[in-house]
Amino acid sequence: TMTYCIMAALHESDKVELSLKSGEVSGVEALIRWRHPERGVLTPGSFIGLAEECGLIVPIGDWVLASACEQAKAWRRQGLPPMRIAVNISAPHFGRADFARRVEALLASSGMEPSMLELELTESMVMSRSRQVLETLEALRDIGVRLSLDDFGTGFSSLGYLRSFPIQRLKIDQSFVREAHLNPVNASIIRAIVALARSLSIEVVAEGVEMEAELALVRDSGCDESQGYLHAKPMCSDAFVAWMEAEKSRE
Ligand code: C2E
Ligand code: MG
Ligand code: MG
Repeated sequence: TMTYCIMAALHESDKVELSLKSGEVSGVEALIRWRHPERGVLTPGSFIGLAEECGLIVPIGDWVLASACEQAKAWRRQGLPPMRIAVNISAPHFGRADFARRVEALLASSGMEPSMLELELTESMVMSRSRQVLETLEALRDIGVRLSLDDFGTGFSSLGYLRSFPIQRLKIDQSFVREAHLNPVNASIIRAIVALARSLSIEVVAEGVEMEAELALVRDSGCDESQGYLHAKPMCSDAFVAWMEAEKSRE
């Protein structure tokens, strides 16, 4: 059986105009897990590649999208504040001619606010520049879902696509965040990505923050949000509700 974990993303900037305090949970990301009968809980690294090759990623991806929308509704019923939920999309799924229509149908049937759903794409997916990809991106923008680029900086970056594509967020890959306070090259890359994103009015998230010193660096570099084990490890949805309660009482 498939299940998924939730990973929180926290606001890091003190943008007065958004009246968001630093350290507030701004959204979560769904991270799939496979509860294998013999091998226990498997992380995506061990099965997503295979699922992509054999086409199973399409029904799996549809399932993750639908469950994420259901989960968001359930949290609202449980009294949690509205939160953006991000879903990782794989290339074969995104490449389906009916992808945008499926997302639209799903939002309609679940009654979820489109802007509360974020689709995490990768550079290679949007870079193919095929007509179908462009049409899908434009359809998704019209539907009103948010689009982000995951693992930013690790792909074969052609920055030209940022001009024409409706991307709202860049997620800086954790390889750049790792020990960025000790590694001047990493720190420079982070600052460069933030500068680029700022000038294009794109938000920046730092991924894989594990240490206070890394957090301080990404915050000082101007990242809008951070995500990583320092804040919380991936957890099941029930644990997340408890974690949110604990966060609230800490305020
Ligand atoms: P990703 O979307 O870049 O997710 C971040 C990965 O890094 C997650 O691993 C997360 O647990 C891990 N991570 C986050 N913060 C830290 C940290 O501070 N330290 C360390 N060491 N690791 C951290 P996970 O859950 O194993 O997911 C791996 C990748 O699998 C994801 O990378 C994503 O590309 C893919 N994936 C996850 N769920 C899905 C899904 O539902 N569909 C598809 N197509 N791909 C998925
Ligand atoms: Mg992701
Ligand atoms: Mg990533």
